[in-house]
Amino acid sequence: MTSVAILGSTGSIGCSALAVALSHPENVRVVGLAAGTNATRFIEQVECHRPQVVSMASDALLASVHAGLSASARDSIDRSLTGTDGLLGVATHPDVDLVLCATTGTTALEAVFAAIEAGKTIALANKEVLVMAGGLVMEAARRCGVSILPVDSEHNAIHQCLHGRSADHLRRLILTASGGPFREWSFERLRGVTPAEALVHPTWQMGRKITVDSATLMNKGLEVVEAKWLFGVTAEQIDVVVHPQSVVHSLVELLDGSQIAQLGVTDMRLPIQYAFSYPDRWETGFQSLDLADSGPLEFSRPDVGRFPCLELAYQALRGGAALPVALNAANEVAVEAFLAETLPFTMISEVISNALEDVQTAGLGHLSTLAEVKHVDRRARQYSRGLIAELQSDK
Ligand code: MG
Repeated sequence: MTSVAILGSTGSIGCSALAVALSHPENVRVVGLAAGTNATRFIEQVECHRPQVVSMASDALLASVHAGLSASARDSIDRSLTGTDGLLGVATHPDVDLVLCATTGTTALEAVFAAIEAGKTIALANKEVLVMAGGLVMEAARRCGVSILPVDSEHNAIHQCLHGRSADHLRRLILTASGGPFREWSFERLRGVTPAEALVHPTWQMGRKITVDSATLMNKGLEVVEAKWLFGVTAEQIDVVVHPQSVVHSLVELLDGSQIAQLGVTDMRLPIQYAFSYPDRWETGFQSLDLADSGPLEFSRPDVGRFPCLELAYQALRGGAALPVALNAANEVAVEAFLAETLPFTMISEVISNALEDVQTAGLGHLSTLAEVKHVDRRARQYSRGLIAELQSDK
């Protein structure tokens, strides 16, 4: 039996994780749930899974959750928490074995560190945690003897391909990318992309921010950084291939040139269940992938001319720990501005590129504490907001 805590339970990954728990009651027990602001969905989840520890973003939201719960669901809770401390309390509850981090952005950074220190296995769905603090997280995990299991589908695929192999046998990792909805659009046409168009993903159902990241290819860029930390490889050992059907979830190439791939249906419950069951395997009720029915599988090189965000991520990865932090922060600010219709789609990469330059000019390179990570994060956000405001006033 694995006792799990889910940070970000009302989001898309959180809901899939609870579906996995529901289909394996003999193997998974939900001990803790933390959510942001969706009280209605949270109430349903608490009624269904009866966690011992819960957390919401604010006191007012927590009160409305309590008011909406049945007396018996309320009685099964022994700790009710809020805010960043709440995430931390849920992640470190003594009965928890595994923490699934499925929050968006950077809110769960401290909670992940605390969970590692408390010896919990980490299932990581949030890529920002590794993009911002990959070196620090992996170092803490090594020191505490804790496993970091990737839930991001590509890294989960690589984890499966590498299982039982010596790291010495690895030549390179090949991440597959769907290419997003604008794979075949001209640069001219990309200039006029609306948020509504960017929010339609061809193969995966995901949250808003990550769907825009898929459209710019920044999602793949963040995954390149994530892969470096998870698997201890260099930027040169990570390649990206566009594969619009998302049937091959990623590959590894061994020293002798053999490539091992993981294939499957596009359903996030699979990588989540892999993390919950690892190193064991459990049945799913899913239909098997039918290759004869999948149609032709296509592969091509990413076009970094039309989608410069991917190249920016490689640039950040080669430039020292502060640059991925700035890359991530500037991207979050730029995507937010794009969704608010205050920044054109093709300017997202411009904002990020300038923010990287700013951090480089400031001489910020090596980062050895979380406080330093946060300093660079704040600086890049502030810089990006200023730049977007400037661009707006120029119009
Ligand atoms: Mg992914």
